[in-house]
Order: sequence, then C-alpha cells, then structure tokens
Amino acid sequence: MTSISFSGLGLADPVLRALNAQNYTTPTPIQAEAIPPLMAGRDLLGIAQTGTGKTAAFALPLLHKLAALKSRPAPRTARALILAPTRELAGQIADSFRLYGKHLDLSIAVVFGGVRQGPQIKALARGVDVLIATPGRLMDHLGQGNIRLSEAKTLVLDEADRMLDMGFVRDVRKIVRDLPHQRQTVFLSATMPKEVEKLAREILGDAVRVEVTPKVVTVAKVEQIVHFVDASAKRSLLTKMLENPDMARVIVFTRTKHGANRVTTFLHKASIEASAIHGNKSQAARQKALDGFKSGRLRVLVATDIAARGIDVADVSHVVNYEIPNEPETYVHRIGRTARAGAGGVAVSLCDPSEKGYLVRIDRLTGQTLAGPAPRLGKPQSGNRQNLASKSGPNSNPNSPKSRPQTEAGRRRRRSRGASRRKAA
Ligand code: AMP
Repeated sequence: MTSISFSGLGLADPVLRALNAQNYTTPTPIQAEAIPPLMAGRDLLGIAQTGTGKTAAFALPLLHKLAALKSRPAPRTARALILAPTRELAGQIADSFRLYGKHLDLSIAVVFGGVRQGPQIKALARGVDVLIATPGRLMDHLGQGNIRLSEAKTLVLDEADRMLDMGFVRDVRKIVRDLPHQRQTVFLSATMPKEVEKLAREILGDAVRVEVTPKVVTVAKVEQIVHFVDASAKRSLLTKMLENPDMARVIVFTRTKHGANRVTTFLHKASIEASAIHGNKSQAARQKALDGFKSGRLRVLVATDIAARGIDVADVSHVVNYEIPNEPETYVHRIGRTARAGAGGVAVSLCDPSEKGYLVRIDRLTGQTLAGPAPRLGKPQSGNRQNLASKSGPNSNPNSPKSRPQTEAGRRRRRSRGASRRKAA
C-alpha cells in the first residue's frame, strides 16, 4: 500500500463513496502509479498480475471520466470496452465496475461465450457505458451488428499475455480496428514476452509504463512448500493433506481439464467435496462452483490455469499445485490466488520426478531454490523420488515441515540446502 489516499487522487465523489464503503483507504502501488496518468488522459502499459489491485487501477479513472458525462450512450454503442481472456475474469471485472460505480447511473454490460446471446443482445441494444467482453463472443456481436465500437473512447486490454496464449490475438486486432483512433488505451499484462510487447506497441499511443512486478514480492508473501513424490503417490498425499482443517479454502491446480476431472473424482471417492472448473464445463456449472467456493460452501475448487485466471476469491488458505505448471509464470499466477491484497497464504506443490525441470525454471524466474541447489533439467535426483505419502504415518501432517523425504540421500540434501520446505527469499 502507499502513503497517498484515494481522495488525494481527485476521483469523483460517488466513486470515493463506493471505495469508502469497501473500506479501501489507500491505493495499492499500481493504483497510485496508474490512476494519475489515466485521469490525465494518457495511455498506459501496465505490467501487473491479478492480486495487485489492477482492476480498480483502470476502473476508477474510467468511472471518474464517465461520471462527468450527462448524456446516455446511443443505442448499440459502447463508451468503453474492456477485453478479458476468460468469462470468469470478464464477470469479475463487471462485478468490480458495478461495485465501484454503484453511486453512478451507468449501464454496464458483460458479454462472453457459453451462454445465450439473447439477453446480451438486449443489453447492447440499449447502448452501454462500459462493455466487458471476451473477444470471441464480442466478434459474434460485431458480426451481427448488435454493437458498434465507433464511440468507444476507452479500450482496456486485460491480461493481454493470456489473451495471446489463448489464441485471441487475431480477434483482438480486428476488434481494435473497429475502435476510433482517438481513444485512451490501457494495456495490462502479467508478463511481457516479445509478441505481447509487439501487440502493445501496435495498439498503444504514447503510453506511460507502469511496472508492478511483484513476482518476488508476491511469492515472498506466500509460504511455499514442495513435496517431492512419485506421480502415483499424489492422490493419497492430497487426500491426506486435506485432512488438515487448516486447509479451509483450497484451490487445486492441474495442467489439463482431464486432470481436473480425475482429481475431482478421486476426492469425491474419498468423501471430500470438490468441484472442477475448466473450459469444458458449462458456464452455469463454472459459476455454481465459483459461487460455492466464494461463499465457503465448497472447500476445494479444482481448476485448470485458464479457468482460474483472474479468480478473485478472498481468504484462499492454500493453493495446491497437484501438477507443476510447465510455464514458470503460471506458477506465480497460481500461488497469487492465495495471499490476496496483502494477506498471507500457503502454496503446496506436489512435484514428481518428471516435473523437476519445471520447478527449476520456476526457480530461475522467481530467484528461489524450490528445486534444490544446482539441479539439472530432466535429471531427477534419487532422493526427490521419495514417496512422501507412503512415509507419512496415519497421524502425520504432510504440510508439516517434518514431512520430508526420509532417505539418507534426502537427509544429506536437506542438510546442504536447508529443507524441502522453503519460503521465498
Ligand atoms: P485485482 O488485482 O484487481 O484482482 O484486485 C485484487 C483484490 O484487491 C480484489 O479483491 C480487490 O477488491 C482488492 N483491492 C483492490 N484495490 C484495493 C485497495 N486499494 N485496498 C484494498 N483492497 C483492494
């Protein structure tokens, strides 16, 4: 958090009242850095992850700007367009706009795939102040003439890197061409690989660059534990871990949709209530699982990375990397689901020998030593294969630092590198 206050930023009174009601007193670093240039009309390139307060960073100045407009938007037009890669993120952005804009008489519409078009067409027909959309469904609406973007004076591209990962880049380019040249553009991305940088250059004008890269900072807030196990031992270890009542609100990550289904099924067999969210689930099923998880009715949410991207649920006590992600940035995103808005959290990774290389790459990105000292890619070390679950007695807690590989090789390595339970530097 920062030393300036929201009122010091000059935001319109109805926006300030909404923030007060949320008990937001101080802007987060990205808000403090992004809001002033955005209120001055500048374009912005923001490098920030979910959990940094990036949504309010672009929503508040936009709401401030819209608050000053007296007229209603013309039918089938939008005054601002927010593009997001997933339905969940689009829904959450819309929730934030409704929350921060609750004292303003604005129309906010959200359009994404997987649900009927009818209600969306109706909402667009009236004209909207803020349109939040995933690219695919927006392309459908544009193609059918349900909306034009010629009046959209503000464009926000949220999670641009994920948008590219998901193959939306062509759609994004086409959509951007429909917007007026004279506009304010905000481009947000958690990471900045070359292609993302290229897209940013294409669509941004003279932009202020704001980098809140809490990669190390974010991971530092999360207590990180790695269990080196055989793949076949992961099921029993996860089931055992979930006996710990401290694991009150848990997201279990898998790399694939099938993986998520498999985990959910074996948890059900062990009488642990869990729901999966991933791209093959209907929107209704995803929303039901997310609502249950948010309200605390559902303790375990099993998610793929894309479905979980941007999920903003407070008080996630634990993130479990049931499968280690093959992109190191994804690890940072995953563990960022816990430790939201300054709180602490625990991330437990179950690493089988084939995944050791992924852990090494994560270490390179985050500057940690989760994988141990000087490991070689693709060469799992013998002690790391230790089946932790089989070593855990019935009363042992696999979250405990005592639950470590018990072989001599394991002991030697532990002595040399500290422990298999590590905190970020
Ligand atoms: P975001 O990075 O936009 O997903 O936001 C992460 C979380 O931080 C959300 O739960 C927001 O409600 C919360 N948040 C955003 N800005 C602030 C603030 N200035 N003070 C406290 N919480 C905030």
